[in-house]
Amino acid sequence: AASSAAELLCCANARALLDSVDAFLFDCDGVIWKGDKLIDGVPQTLDMLRSKGKKLVFVTNNSTKSRIQYANKFQSLGLSVNQDEIFSSSFAAAMYLKVNQFPPHKKVRFLVIEAKSPALYQPTTQEFCTALLQPLSLSSHFVTQIFCVYVIGGEGIVQELQLAGFTALGGPEDAEKRAQWKSNCLFEHDKDVGAVVVGLDPDINYYKLQYATLCIRENPGCLFIATNRDSVGHMTDLQEWPGAGCMVAAVCGSTEQEPIVVGKPSNFMMDFLLQKFNVSTSRMCMVGDRLDTDILFGQNAGCKTLLVLSGVTTQSTLDDPSNSIKPDYYTNKVSDILSLLGE
Ligand code: PLP
Ligand code: CA
Repeated sequence: AASSAAELLCCANARALLDSVDAFLFDCDGVIWKGDKLIDGVPQTLDMLRSKGKKLVFVTNNSTKSRIQYANKFQSLGLSVNQDEIFSSSFAAAMYLKVNQFPPHKKVRFLVIEAKSPALYQPTTQEFCTALLQPLSLSSHFVTQIFCVYVIGGEGIVQELQLAGFTALGGPEDAEKRAQWKSNCLFEHDKDVGAVVVGLDPDINYYKLQYATLCIRENPGCLFIATNRDSVGHMTDLQEWPGAGCMVAAVCGSTEQEPIVVGKPSNFMMDFLLQKFNVSTSRMCMVGDRLDTDILFGQNAGCKTLLVLSGVTTQSTLDDPSNSIKPDYYTNKVSDILSLLGE
Protein backbone atom coordinates (compact mmCIF):
# COMPACT_ATOMS: atom_id res chain seq x y z
CA ALA A 1 0.00 0.00 0.00
CA ALA A 2 1.10 3.60 -0.54
CA SER A 3 2.89 5.00 2.50
CA SER A 4 4.08 8.49 3.24
CA ALA A 5 7.75 7.56 3.20
CA ALA A 6 9.71 4.63 1.84
CA GLU A 7 11.62 2.62 4.43
CA LEU A 8 15.22 1.72 3.74
CA LEU A 9 15.51 -2.07 3.74
CA CYS A 10 17.33 -3.35 6.84
CA CYS A 11 17.83 -6.71 8.58
CA ALA A 12 14.60 -6.51 10.58
CA ASN A 13 12.20 -5.35 7.85
CA ALA A 14 13.83 -7.63 5.24
CA ARG A 15 13.12 -10.61 7.47
CA ALA A 16 9.56 -9.40 8.11
CA LEU A 17 9.04 -8.83 4.38
CA LEU A 18 10.18 -12.35 3.55
CA ASP A 19 7.90 -13.83 6.19
CA SER A 20 4.89 -11.90 4.94
CA VAL A 21 5.29 -12.70 1.24
CA ASP A 22 4.69 -15.88 -0.80
CA ALA A 23 5.51 -14.51 -4.24
CA PHE A 24 7.92 -11.96 -5.66
CA LEU A 25 7.13 -10.19 -8.91
CA PHE A 26 10.37 -9.00 -10.45
CA ASP A 27 10.67 -6.27 -13.00
CA CYS A 28 13.56 -7.22 -15.31
CA ASP A 29 15.54 -4.29 -16.65
CA GLY A 30 17.20 -2.41 -13.81
CA VAL A 31 16.50 -5.25 -11.36
CA ILE A 32 17.63 -8.55 -12.90
CA TRP A 33 19.75 -7.15 -15.71
CA LYS A 34 20.74 -3.88 -17.32
CA GLY A 35 20.50 -4.30 -21.10
CA ASP A 36 22.26 -7.64 -21.59
CA LYS A 37 24.30 -7.54 -18.37
CA LEU A 38 23.24 -9.46 -15.30
CA ILE A 39 23.11 -7.36 -12.11
CA ASP A 40 25.46 -8.52 -9.32
CA GLY A 41 24.18 -11.15 -6.92
CA VAL A 42 20.92 -11.87 -8.77
CA PRO A 43 21.40 -15.65 -9.28
CA GLN A 44 22.20 -16.23 -5.60
CA THR A 45 19.24 -14.10 -4.48
CA LEU A 46 16.78 -15.92 -6.75
CA ASP A 47 18.17 -19.28 -5.60
CA MET A 48 17.72 -18.30 -1.94
CA LEU A 49 14.12 -17.16 -2.52
CA ARG A 50 13.28 -20.35 -4.40
CA SER A 51 14.87 -22.45 -1.65
CA LYS A 52 12.49 -20.76 0.80
CA GLY A 53 9.57 -21.81 -1.39
CA LYS A 54 8.78 -18.35 -2.77
CA LYS A 55 7.04 -18.16 -6.12
CA LEU A 56 8.94 -15.99 -8.61
CA VAL A 57 7.38 -14.14 -11.52
CA PHE A 58 9.15 -11.88 -14.02
CA VAL A 59 7.25 -8.94 -15.48
CA THR A 60 8.85 -6.83 -18.18
CA ASN A 61 7.50 -3.91 -20.20
CA ASN A 62 10.12 -4.45 -22.88
CA SER A 63 8.11 -5.76 -25.85
CA THR A 64 11.02 -6.50 -28.17
CA LYS A 65 11.15 -10.18 -27.17
CA SER A 66 8.54 -12.92 -26.86
CA ARG A 67 8.33 -15.16 -23.80
CA ILE A 68 10.31 -17.85 -25.61
CA GLN A 69 13.02 -15.33 -26.42
CA TYR A 70 13.06 -14.14 -22.79
CA ALA A 71 13.39 -17.70 -21.51
CA ASN A 72 16.48 -17.98 -23.74
CA LYS A 73 17.83 -14.69 -22.43
CA PHE A 74 17.43 -15.88 -18.81
CA GLN A 75 19.18 -19.12 -19.71
CA SER A 76 22.04 -17.35 -21.47
CA LEU A 77 22.58 -15.31 -18.30
CA GLY A 78 22.72 -18.52 -16.28
CA LEU A 79 19.28 -18.14 -14.68
CA SER A 80 16.87 -21.00 -14.81
CA VAL A 81 13.47 -19.42 -15.40
CA ASN A 82 10.50 -21.16 -16.92
CA GLN A 83 8.58 -19.64 -19.80
CA ASP A 84 5.37 -19.52 -17.78
CA GLU A 85 7.03 -17.47 -15.04
CA ILE A 86 7.56 -14.70 -17.62
CA PHE A 87 5.04 -11.97 -18.41
CA SER A 88 6.21 -9.57 -21.10
CA SER A 89 4.21 -6.71 -22.55
CA SER A 90 4.43 -8.44 -25.96
CA PHE A 91 2.64 -11.47 -24.48
CA ALA A 92 0.18 -9.19 -22.67
CA ALA A 93 -0.82 -7.55 -25.98
CA ALA A 94 -1.58 -10.93 -27.56
CA MET A 95 -3.48 -12.10 -24.47
CA TYR A 96 -5.51 -8.89 -24.32
CA LEU A 97 -6.71 -9.47 -27.88
CA LYS A 98 -7.43 -13.11 -27.13
CA VAL A 99 -9.41 -12.37 -23.96
CA ASN A 100 -11.24 -9.31 -25.27
CA GLN A 101 -12.74 -10.46 -28.54
CA PHE A 102 -12.90 -8.12 -31.44
CA PRO A 103 -16.29 -6.65 -32.27
CA PRO A 104 -17.98 -9.17 -34.59
CA HIS A 105 -17.87 -7.58 -37.98
CA LYS A 106 -16.07 -8.33 -41.17
CA LYS A 107 -12.49 -7.88 -40.04
CA VAL A 108 -12.40 -11.62 -39.53
CA ARG A 109 -10.27 -13.95 -41.55
CA PHE A 110 -10.72 -17.65 -41.80
CA LEU A 111 -8.33 -20.50 -41.69
CA VAL A 112 -9.95 -23.53 -43.22
CA ILE A 113 -8.87 -26.96 -42.11
CA GLU A 114 -10.30 -30.11 -43.63
CA ALA A 115 -10.62 -32.81 -41.00
CA LYS A 116 -9.51 -35.94 -42.87
CA SER A 117 -6.73 -34.56 -44.99
CA PRO A 118 -5.77 -31.34 -43.26
CA ALA A 119 -5.53 -28.71 -45.95
CA LEU A 120 -4.47 -25.27 -44.97
CA TYR A 121 -5.73 -22.41 -47.05
CA GLN A 122 -4.27 -18.93 -46.89
CA PRO A 123 -6.19 -16.66 -44.55
CA THR A 124 -8.74 -15.07 -46.80
CA THR A 125 -12.07 -13.26 -46.97
CA GLN A 126 -15.29 -14.53 -45.48
CA GLU A 127 -16.91 -14.62 -48.92
CA PHE A 128 -14.12 -16.74 -50.34
CA CYS A 129 -14.28 -19.10 -47.36
CA THR A 130 -18.00 -19.61 -47.71
CA ALA A 131 -17.53 -20.38 -51.39
CA LEU A 132 -14.82 -22.83 -50.46
CA LEU A 133 -16.67 -24.44 -47.56
CA GLN A 134 -19.99 -25.22 -49.18
CA PRO A 135 -18.78 -27.65 -51.89
CA LEU A 136 -16.62 -29.42 -49.30
CA SER A 137 -19.61 -29.71 -46.92
CA LEU A 138 -17.42 -28.66 -44.03
CA SER A 139 -19.27 -27.65 -40.92
CA SER A 140 -18.47 -24.48 -39.06
CA HIS A 141 -16.34 -26.06 -36.35
CA PHE A 142 -13.63 -26.65 -38.91
CA VAL A 143 -13.36 -22.91 -39.22
CA THR A 144 -11.12 -20.95 -36.92
CA GLN A 145 -11.40 -17.21 -36.84
CA ILE A 146 -8.14 -15.42 -37.43
CA PHE A 147 -7.91 -11.78 -36.57
CA CYS A 148 -5.57 -9.50 -38.39
CA VAL A 149 -3.34 -7.18 -36.34
CA TYR A 150 -1.05 -4.40 -37.59
CA VAL A 151 2.17 -4.06 -35.59
CA ILE A 152 4.42 -1.10 -34.97
CA GLY A 153 7.05 -2.94 -32.98
CA GLY A 154 9.50 -5.79 -33.06
CA GLU A 155 9.71 -9.53 -33.52
CA GLY A 156 8.57 -10.18 -29.93
CA ILE A 157 5.10 -8.80 -30.57
CA VAL A 158 4.78 -10.52 -33.95
CA GLN A 159 5.78 -13.87 -32.44
CA GLU A 160 3.34 -13.60 -29.51
CA LEU A 161 0.47 -12.61 -31.84
CA GLN A 162 1.19 -15.56 -34.12
CA LEU A 163 1.41 -17.98 -31.17
CA ALA A 164 -1.99 -16.70 -30.03
CA GLY A 165 -3.42 -17.45 -33.49
CA PHE A 166 -3.50 -13.98 -35.00
CA THR A 167 -2.31 -12.86 -38.39
CA ALA A 168 0.35 -10.21 -37.77
CA LEU A 169 1.08 -7.56 -40.40
CA GLY A 170 3.79 -4.90 -40.28
CA GLY A 171 6.51 -5.04 -37.63
CA PRO A 172 10.01 -5.85 -38.93
CA GLU A 173 8.54 -6.69 -42.38
CA ASP A 174 7.74 -3.03 -43.00
CA ALA A 175 11.11 -1.74 -41.79
CA GLU A 176 12.32 -0.76 -45.27
CA LYS A 177 9.02 0.43 -46.71
CA ARG A 178 8.53 4.00 -47.79
CA ALA A 179 5.27 5.90 -47.81
CA GLN A 180 4.47 7.19 -51.32
CA TRP A 181 2.24 10.12 -51.92
CA LYS A 182 1.43 11.71 -55.25
CA SER A 183 -1.73 12.78 -57.03
CA ASN A 184 -4.10 9.93 -57.86
CA CYS A 185 -2.06 7.54 -55.69
CA LEU A 186 -3.95 6.14 -52.74
CA PHE A 187 -2.14 4.55 -49.79
CA GLU A 188 -3.84 1.17 -49.42
CA HIS A 189 -4.29 -0.48 -46.04
CA ASP A 190 -5.98 -3.73 -45.09
CA LYS A 191 -9.62 -3.06 -44.15
CA ASP A 192 -9.67 -6.34 -42.21
CA VAL A 193 -7.20 -5.20 -39.57
CA GLY A 194 -9.04 -5.28 -36.24
CA ALA A 195 -6.31 -4.01 -33.95
CA VAL A 196 -3.08 -2.05 -34.05
CA VAL A 197 -0.42 -2.93 -31.47
CA VAL A 198 2.30 -0.36 -30.80
CA GLY A 199 5.50 -1.13 -28.88
CA LEU A 200 9.16 -0.22 -29.13
CA ASP A 201 10.11 -0.05 -32.81
CA PRO A 202 13.65 1.08 -33.68
CA ASP A 203 12.57 0.94 -37.35
CA ILE A 204 9.43 3.03 -37.07
CA ASN A 205 8.84 5.00 -40.27
CA TYR A 206 6.25 7.12 -42.07
CA TYR A 207 4.85 4.09 -43.91
CA LYS A 208 4.06 2.30 -40.63
CA LEU A 209 2.58 5.45 -39.12
CA GLN A 210 0.29 5.95 -42.11
CA TYR A 211 -0.72 2.28 -42.06
CA ALA A 212 -1.52 2.25 -38.34
CA THR A 213 -3.30 5.59 -38.54
CA LEU A 214 -5.57 4.49 -41.41
CA CYS A 215 -6.46 1.24 -39.62
CA ILE A 216 -7.38 3.03 -36.40
CA ARG A 217 -9.22 5.89 -38.07
CA GLU A 218 -11.00 4.02 -40.85
CA ASN A 219 -11.53 0.38 -39.83
CA PRO A 220 -14.72 0.33 -37.73
CA GLY A 221 -13.99 -0.73 -34.14
CA CYS A 222 -10.26 -1.15 -34.71
CA LEU A 223 -8.49 -1.33 -31.32
CA PHE A 224 -5.42 0.74 -30.49
CA ILE A 225 -3.21 -1.22 -28.07
CA ALA A 226 0.05 0.00 -26.52
CA THR A 227 2.40 -2.57 -25.01
CA ASN A 228 3.75 0.10 -22.63
CA ARG A 229 4.53 3.81 -22.42
CA ASP A 230 7.98 3.79 -20.83
CA SER A 231 9.82 7.02 -21.62
CA VAL A 232 13.20 5.31 -21.85
CA GLY A 233 14.77 1.87 -21.74
CA HIS A 234 18.22 0.31 -21.63
CA MET A 235 19.17 -0.88 -25.08
CA THR A 236 22.60 -1.55 -23.51
CA ASP A 237 23.91 -1.31 -19.96
CA LEU A 238 25.67 1.98 -20.77
CA GLN A 239 22.89 4.30 -21.81
CA GLU A 240 19.16 4.92 -21.90
CA TRP A 241 17.35 5.24 -25.23
CA PRO A 242 13.82 6.47 -26.07
CA GLY A 243 11.25 3.86 -25.03
CA ALA A 244 7.94 2.78 -26.55
CA GLY A 245 6.29 5.90 -25.09
CA CYS A 246 7.43 7.98 -28.05
CA MET A 247 6.14 5.51 -30.67
CA VAL A 248 2.79 5.32 -28.87
CA ALA A 249 2.68 9.13 -28.67
CA ALA A 250 3.19 9.38 -32.44
CA VAL A 251 0.07 7.28 -33.07
CA CYS A 252 -1.89 9.18 -30.41
CA GLY A 253 -0.97 12.34 -32.27
CA SER A 254 -2.11 11.19 -35.68
CA THR A 255 -5.29 9.42 -34.54
CA GLU A 256 -6.32 11.75 -31.69
CA GLN A 257 -7.03 8.59 -29.70
CA GLU A 258 -5.67 7.16 -26.48
CA PRO A 259 -4.47 3.54 -26.47
CA ILE A 260 -5.37 0.64 -24.23
CA VAL A 261 -2.12 0.03 -22.33
CA VAL A 262 -1.53 -3.64 -21.47
CA GLY A 263 1.91 -3.47 -19.77
CA LYS A 264 2.78 -2.07 -16.33
CA PRO A 265 1.14 -0.16 -14.60
CA SER A 266 -2.04 -1.42 -16.29
CA ASN A 267 -4.27 -3.73 -14.26
CA PHE A 268 -4.64 -6.05 -17.25
CA MET A 269 -1.19 -7.56 -16.78
CA MET A 270 -1.80 -8.01 -13.04
CA ASP A 271 -5.27 -9.54 -13.44
CA PHE A 272 -3.96 -11.86 -16.10
CA LEU A 273 -1.04 -13.14 -14.04
CA LEU A 274 -3.19 -13.47 -10.92
CA GLN A 275 -5.39 -15.93 -12.82
CA LYS A 276 -2.32 -18.08 -13.40
CA PHE A 277 -0.97 -17.98 -9.83
CA ASN A 278 -2.98 -18.76 -6.79
CA VAL A 279 -1.47 -16.13 -4.48
CA SER A 280 -3.24 -13.28 -2.74
CA THR A 281 -1.87 -9.86 -3.72
CA SER A 282 -1.40 -8.93 -0.06
CA ARG A 283 1.19 -11.73 0.09
CA MET A 284 3.03 -10.54 -3.02
CA CYS A 285 5.90 -8.13 -3.34
CA MET A 286 6.57 -6.19 -6.54
CA VAL A 287 10.27 -5.42 -6.96
CA GLY A 288 11.10 -2.74 -9.53
CA ASP A 289 13.31 0.20 -10.45
CA ARG A 290 10.65 2.49 -11.93
CA LEU A 291 8.09 4.40 -9.86
CA ASP A 292 5.45 5.16 -12.53
CA THR A 293 5.36 1.60 -13.89
CA ASP A 294 6.60 -1.02 -11.38
CA ILE A 295 5.80 0.54 -8.02
CA LEU A 296 2.45 1.92 -9.19
CA PHE A 297 1.62 -1.47 -10.72
CA GLY A 298 2.24 -3.20 -7.39
CA GLN A 299 0.44 -0.57 -5.33
CA ASN A 300 -2.66 -0.56 -7.55
CA ALA A 301 -3.04 -4.28 -6.88
CA GLY A 302 -2.40 -4.06 -3.13
CA CYS A 303 1.02 -5.73 -3.27
CA LYS A 304 3.95 -4.78 -1.09
CA THR A 305 6.52 -2.83 -3.07
CA LEU A 306 10.31 -2.70 -3.05
CA LEU A 307 12.19 -0.14 -5.13
CA VAL A 308 15.76 -0.91 -6.12
CA LEU A 309 18.13 1.90 -7.06
CA SER A 310 20.05 -0.26 -9.57
CA GLY A 311 18.01 1.07 -12.53
CA VAL A 312 16.37 4.32 -13.64
CA THR A 313 15.37 5.79 -10.26
CA THR A 314 17.91 7.67 -8.15
CA GLN A 315 17.72 8.42 -4.43
CA SER A 316 17.05 12.10 -5.21
CA THR A 317 14.08 11.22 -7.51
CA LEU A 318 12.68 9.03 -4.74
CA ASP A 319 13.11 11.80 -2.15
CA ASP A 320 11.81 14.57 -4.45
CA PRO A 321 8.70 16.13 -2.81
CA SER A 322 6.98 16.24 -6.23
CA ASN A 323 7.14 12.44 -6.45
CA SER A 324 3.88 11.05 -5.07
CA ILE A 325 4.67 7.37 -5.69
CA LYS A 326 6.43 5.95 -2.65
CA PRO A 327 7.34 2.27 -2.36
CA ASP A 328 7.04 0.49 0.98
CA TYR A 329 10.76 -0.27 0.98
CA TYR A 330 13.82 0.66 -1.02
CA THR A 331 17.37 -0.64 -1.31
CA ASN A 332 20.32 -0.42 -3.70
CA LYS A 333 19.96 -3.78 -5.43
CA VAL A 334 18.04 -7.05 -5.07
CA SER A 335 20.99 -8.96 -3.63
CA ASP A 336 20.82 -6.70 -0.54
CA ILE A 337 17.99 -9.03 0.58
CA LEU A 338 20.55 -11.80 0.66
CA SER A 339 23.20 -9.90 2.62
CA LEU A 340 20.68 -8.36 5.04
CA LEU A 341 19.41 -11.81 5.91
CA GLY A 342 23.00 -12.92 6.42
CA GLU A 343 22.64 -15.74 3.88
N1 PLP B 1 11.06 -0.96 -23.13
C1 PLP B 1 12.29 -1.01 -23.66
C2 PLP B 1 12.46 -0.81 -25.10
C3 PLP B 1 13.39 -1.27 -22.89
O1 PLP B 1 14.61 -1.31 -23.44
C4 PLP B 1 13.19 -1.46 -21.51
C5 PLP B 1 14.32 -1.74 -20.68
O2 PLP B 1 15.40 -2.05 -21.15
C6 PLP B 1 11.90 -1.40 -20.99
C7 PLP B 1 10.87 -1.16 -21.83
C8 PLP B 1 11.60 -1.64 -19.55
O3 PLP B 1 11.70 -3.00 -19.26
P1 PLP B 1 11.43 -3.50 -17.78
O4 PLP B 1 9.97 -3.41 -17.54
O5 PLP B 1 11.98 -4.89 -17.74
O6 PLP B 1 12.20 -2.58 -16.89
CA1 CA C 1 12.66 -1.76 -14.99
